[in-house]
Amino acid sequence: MDFEIDADTREAIEQIRDLGRNEARPVGLEADRLGRPIPVDDPYFARLIARGEGRTRWRPGAKEQGASSSRAAEKRRLDRTVRSLLCVEELAYWDRGVVVATPGVGLPEANVLASGTEAQKEQFLTPFIEPDRPRWACLAMTEPSAGSDAAAIATTARRDGDHWILNGAKCFIGNASRSDWILVQATLDPAKGRAGQRSFFVEQGTPGLGGFRIEKKMGLKAYESTSFTLQDCRVPAGNLLGGEARKKSGGGFKTTMRTFNAGRPVVAANAVGIGRAALDESLAFARSCDRLGDPRVRDRLERAARKLKKARLLCLRAGWLADHERPNIVEASMSKAVAAEVGQQATSMGMELLGAVGARGDHLIEKLYRDVKAMDIVEGTGQIQRVIMGRQLVGLPR
Ligand SMILES: Cc1cc2nc3c(=O)[nH]c(=O)nc-3n(C[C@H](O)[C@H](O)[C@H](O)COP(=O)(O)OP(=O)(O)OC[C@H]3O[C@@H](n4cnc5c(N)ncnc54)[C@H](O)[C@@H]3O)c2cc1C
Repeated sequence: MDFEIDADTREAIEQIRDLGRNEARPVGLEADRLGRPIPVDDPYFARLIARGEGRTRWRPGAKEQGASSSRAAEKRRLDRTVRSLLCVEELAYWDRGVVVATPGVGLPEANVLASGTEAQKEQFLTPFIEPDRPRWACLAMTEPSAGSDAAAIATTARRDGDHWILNGAKCFIGNASRSDWILVQATLDPAKGRAGQRSFFVEQGTPGLGGFRIEKKMGLKAYESTSFTLQDCRVPAGNLLGGEARKKSGGGFKTTMRTFNAGRPVVAANAVGIGRAALDESLAFARSCDRLGDPRVRDRLERAARKLKKARLLCLRAGWLADHERPNIVEASMSKAVAAEVGQQATSMGMELLGAVGARGDHLIEKLYRDVKAMDIVEGTGQIQRVIMGRQLVGLPR
């Protein structure tokens, strides 16, 4: 494993640092102060779009165009996940809530690229090639009674002629009310558990899709986490991800879980970024009140710094394995379980070190303390990661 960060990635991180310092953090602090998501028409989003953000990596006919054979291109391909983890960490350092609020296809992009038909990519990804305005999409898995146990999903899909009819309720879905389309996980037959699940594109404005309610949450207020309902919501037959072949072969659950597996090191990198921000706030505070001479203070700071480095290495290792197309189930879970814990410890250490200054509730450290908790919850809680690792350790099926 090569620990060198190449010049391109260093430059990308520098650019993120500028954007983070000058825009993302102020926008995130404002959203937190007002206790509401960044509005859809906020000029921040328009500036991101003008800068070329919010685009899909899909291009029509990409397969046929073939990959570039140059060594530099090959190295970039190999480092793709590692590079994106380093960038994500830097983004989260400045504001993790703002990162999720950023326009783009987001979580479902990997599913659509892996399993979508060419017609589906054309229809649902084309508007994201060069978006004319900020556009979002999202993935809706969680339900009021199906979180960790994703196999328990109760939203149903029933075939009716040229349509599918969806019924159910989803909750805590990032960016749902502002999304052009939602990739909804539903079951064709609840008795079949995971094997009965498929994913469906549901376009905004489809009759029956509604009841959007932005959830109250302790942190990450810059983006919306939204519940909604599907009531006799009719979508065209072609909106089944992967098309008719998918209906027979199944795989809807596996594809979605693959997205979550791939997302675990990303969530871990977010936790490291938030933890690093907490460490820097703590250092700055201790310096400002002349407490760096106290060995007890130095010990706490050093311990947090050391654990954050360890968590980052686990993240990068999981990313490196993904880039080299090697199994990384254990490493992805380990990176998330460790980084979320370490991120929480770093922010908690900051709260203790700052004492009353942190507890007043108007210092960044207190926001980081609230923001980081979700890293332990989303895309598989810490307990679930430990269940996965334990089963792998003793050779039980996943
Ligand atoms: C900020 C935020 C954003 C989110 N964004 C999205 C999104 O965009 N899309 C989406 O689909 N979902 C999203 N979610 C939902 C998230 O994925 C779920 O909250 C998560 O999967 C946990 O489910 P749950 O909340 O129902 O908890 P439960 O599954 O009810 O778990 C409750 C507790 O029991 C523990 N537990 C459960 N089962 C086991 C077990 N077998 N062994 C040991 N312990 C167990 C859990 O670890 C947890 O501590 C989001 C959640 C949050 C907080």
